[in-house]
Amino acid sequence: MAVMSAKSWADQVIKQDEIDRYLVDGKDFIDEQEIITKIKNNANPDKGYIRNIMDKALSIKTLSLDETAALINLKDEDLWQELYEAGNKIKKDVYDNRVVFFAPLYCSNLCVNSCKYCGFRVENSQEKRKILSMEEVRKETEALIDEGHKRLIVVYGEHPSSDIDYITETIKNIYSVQRISPKTGRPSSIRRVNVNAAPLSIADLKRLKEAGIGTFQVFQETYDRKLYRDLHPSGPKSNYRWRLYALHRAMEAGIDDFAIGALFGLNDWRFEVMGLLAHARDLERQFGIGPHTISFPRLTAASGSSISTNPKYRVSDEDFKKLVTILRLSVPYTGLIITARERAELRDDIVKVGCTQMDASTKIGIGSYSEKTSQQDKEKQQFMLGDTRSLEEVIHKLAEDGTITSFCTAGYRCGRTGDKIMDMLKECSEGKFCKLNAVLTYKEYLDDFASPETQKLGEALILKEMDEIKNNPFYTKTGLINTLDKYYDRISKGDSDLFI
Ligand code: SAM
Ligand code: SF4
Repeated sequence: MAVMSAKSWADQVIKQDEIDRYLVDGKDFIDEQEIITKIKNNANPDKGYIRNIMDKALSIKTLSLDETAALINLKDEDLWQELYEAGNKIKKDVYDNRVVFFAPLYCSNLCVNSCKYCGFRVENSQEKRKILSMEEVRKETEALIDEGHKRLIVVYGEHPSSDIDYITETIKNIYSVQRISPKTGRPSSIRRVNVNAAPLSIADLKRLKEAGIGTFQVFQETYDRKLYRDLHPSGPKSNYRWRLYALHRAMEAGIDDFAIGALFGLNDWRFEVMGLLAHARDLERQFGIGPHTISFPRLTAASGSSISTNPKYRVSDEDFKKLVTILRLSVPYTGLIITARERAELRDDIVKVGCTQMDASTKIGIGSYSEKTSQQDKEKQQFMLGDTRSLEEVIHKLAEDGTITSFCTAGYRCGRTGDKIMDMLKECSEGKFCKLNAVLTYKEYLDDFASPETQKLGEALILKEMDEIKNNPFYTKTGLINTLDKYYDRISKGDSDLFI
């Protein structure tokens, strides 16, 4: 077959019928006027109404767009303190006192698109282009496993050389890597590969499913059509609706674990929060389940992008905390991800209002984990990181605050995905399984990778956690406590990868 040019490859990416089939009367689910009107109509919400909304969220019910719009308009700082506490409580009720860790693995920065905020865009001649060979993918994976990671999110530019063949090949190679912990001699590997890639066709998504993907993640960046057009002048990404329905297609291809996000700083954050909720609600309406996670990256300085260094709608730290809290309350059972784009102190604070997942020891240069380059190697990075702490440093800090780190990957390996996990989250029972798996994976991490100081701190936390579990009738009645005891003992003696 003749080699296709990047341009003709890009021209055949979009399948119009895989957009049209989801439209209702020719319309998509983002009604910009409706969003603006709801924000306007809910200005100056009174205290009683806000407290009712808070109670609804605390009973783990999704908020309506009007209710979210009221939170968006809230000015009363005392009530905000109550909302932060409510966010924390909801997170604990649904997800318990644990945070799941992952690391991003950037495989390629070749890209046919022109996103004005991204260092990888095709016009950026400052960017050194690189695509990892399979050997390099394995080397990167080795470095990540040696740090203690069990979950990755693999990230790709959109380009013929990182098409679905390349993506599935990288996933296969990542899963194939086995390492031995120098501390215990126990085998270790990546147990879950999530993917952040361009929107794919249903046929390609089916291949992704076969490759054993965890979550498929696509960020809309902005839900504002005109702004979207301005920021994405060419390439397949210029098609707003192809992206808008990326996760509807995933669902149709059998990937029932998917994630949405918006890039904050491009537009008024209030509009984008409403857009995210409209997106989550449409997925729920059409398929009965919402996104597994929502991400809210803030625009970060990228090479050669003036939009990224000087965002028109820069979100202050204060507003950022508010928007995360609003999301926590609006979709109480959806995971929230805070990334290392944010500064360490801010992450440590914001994780408390309801985040469920964080990355750590993150490097976003292509090949940076195995090359041991400086974290801030500008040449190969997509943007600059705010938190460059190692995985152990973040785990240590969380342990000091009483939070357990989880490397649990049991959910998708036990078939607890899609509507099954959503139902369990809504009933707050998924958190109960996760609590057990968090203890087991935390213990495994501490034994295999932690320094004596972190191990001591972590094990004290595990003891406290075990006490709580033993005193909870759910675990005694179901007999799960016995399974936990048995598995914990086996992990302590060197067994690995046990989950409930
Ligand atoms: N190429 C695929 C796409 O655009 O969906 C996936 C990879 S892209 C690098 C992943 C995400 O990085 C984008 O969805 C965008 O939200 C985020 N991103 C791009 N430029 C950024 C910047 N300057 N600061 C923070 N996040 C950025
Ligand atoms: Fe390419 Fe994604 Fe960057 Fe846009 S955001 S330039 S599509 S890598």
